Amino acid sequence: TPLLELSKLRVEFNGSAGRKVRAVRDVDLQIYEGETLGLVGESGCGKSTLGRAMLRITEPTAGAINYLGLDITRLRGTVFRRTRADLQMVFQDPFGSLNPRRTIADIVAEPMLRARGMSRADARTAVDALLEQVGLGREAGARRPHEFSGGQRQRIGIARALAPSPRFVVADEPVSALDVSIQAQVINLLTDLIRERGLTMLFISHDLGVVRHIADRIAVMYLGQIIEIASRDDFFAGPAHPYGEALLSSVPSLGSARERIELAGELPDPAAPPPGCTFHTRCRYAIDRCTVEAPELREVAPGRQVRCHLPLVPLSAAPSSPAAPV
Ligand code: SF4
Ligand code: MG
Repeated sequence: TPLLELSKLRVEFNGSAGRKVRAVRDVDLQIYEGETLGLVGESGCGKSTLGRAMLRITEPTAGAINYLGLDITRLRGTVFRRTRADLQMVFQDPFGSLNPRRTIADIVAEPMLRARGMSRADARTAVDALLEQVGLGREAGARRPHEFSGGQRQRIGIARALAPSPRFVVADEPVSALDVSIQAQVINLLTDLIRERGLTMLFISHDLGVVRHIADRIAVMYLGQIIEIASRDDFFAGPAHPYGEALLSSVPSLGSARERIELAGELPDPAAPPPGCTFHTRCRYAIDRCTVEAPELREVAPGRQVRCHLPLVPLSAAPSSPAAPV
């Protein structure tokens, strides 16, 4: 059974000239206990909005988020706050959300005191242990955010997210702002923490190389919709959606001598997505049907879902030999 299950989750914003921008378009998604789900796609496709909506940092416009039998979109007050402590976020830029006047120990202790009702003495012990666990050392507790490098600040951001002992963490581009040399260290730390704590994670990134290191499954987003879900190995062996194929081909080091597929045109305006398959304006396989009929997300092989009329794996489930569509 999934730890979290999204049903028809929708997020709309008011755009310019009174237009509605549907940033997240009726997403159905299951996240299983203990897995790391990599959420990929170009910037502007709705990944961050979906991650924030799952924690109600951004309020969903419609749909449900089922967590342990509760629809968390309907929770209020104390029940919401207590439940929400199980679900935490690691941000791309932790510095922006770290109060510069407070010590690291205070910053990390705060969720323990507020969300979990720990005593000060217990919180102090737990903060020391957590600062050790994220590789900062307990001495870091007496210092303030500006005294740390970017990589260290992300370790502080991770410690703060883990302070209330969450079961589920959304990590939104957690290494994108870091030097490449530091990225691997933070990814290795997250991998260790996931294993040691049995965490379930949504790992949002536009960087497929990073996602391949950490994710068990991959979900691909395009214009607010999930268009492919696959195991990591199946995805990197050959995406089933033409958009995933193009994304992967843009990182030659990950592909096995695939040709580079240039995506035609820009990402369309999310306030006015193309009719039919929203990817048809950029798809090299598009046929007439694609311009009028929107494909459903459907299972094409065990554990593999694709939103495309002409998926790149045979419907008979032979992911090792992707067939070119007609
Ligand atoms: Fe391309 Fe058609 Fe599939 Fe959309 S439905 S991805 S346009 S082939
Ligand atoms: Mg983003």
